[in-house]
Amino acid sequence: MSRSPVSDGGLRERILQETGVNTARCYQCGKCSAGCPMAAETRWRPHDVMRMVNTGAVGPLQDDPSIWLCLACETCASRCPNGCDPARVIDALRERFAREAPGGVPRPVAAFHRAFLDQVRRHGRSFELGMVMEYKLRTGALTEDALSAPGLLARGKLSLTPSRISGIGEVRRIFDACTGSAGTGAGGTGAGGDDR
Ligand code: SF4
Ligand code: SF4
Repeated sequence: MSRSPVSDGGLRERILQETGVNTARCYQCGKCSAGCPMAAETRWRPHDVMRMVNTGAVGPLQDDPSIWLCLACETCASRCPNGCDPARVIDALRERFAREAPGGVPRPVAAFHRAFLDQVRRHGRSFELGMVMEYKLRTGALTEDALSAPGLLARGKLSLTPSRISGIGEVRRIFDACTGSAGTGAGGTGAGGDDR
């Protein structure tokens, strides 16, 4: 049973408007799912998502982590013989779910998105140590994987200090513009932060 009020009516048309992807072109050949690196980890695969959008029956996607595990690698889009782009559709659905039913976004996923985007907003690029610390504070998983840190630091995989790009002002203007137009924060999961 769907746990949120996300509306399904006219979904295919709205996805088309938002992404330019006409899901009606999908003929369910499954080539996208056959190449998806997360297919073995997910209940609903890219071709399933396309079918659900076409039928307006996306409720089951809200009660399952499948679309939140998408890596946005675009393998599905590159394999599609029909010019469809499941990755863009999945991203649009994530934005929609986060906007209309934020309580349905898995907490670790929302925390990761928020932590990642906050770092990009502050520095113009990802700062892994800051992202890890923020993620842990948001999820409460303070000691999880803590023993990995010394090894990562020793191998130079984690930097202790962030470096900021020169065009940080432009990055922040993009975040401000996205936050203002979407009302949910850049990334659709409430990210954006208030640290300037
Ligand atoms: S590869 Fe393209 S046409 Fe085939 S199922 Fe996937 S999205 Fe649909
Ligand atoms: S973009 Fe997402 S759905 Fe498409 S192949 Fe990559 S992980 Fe799978």
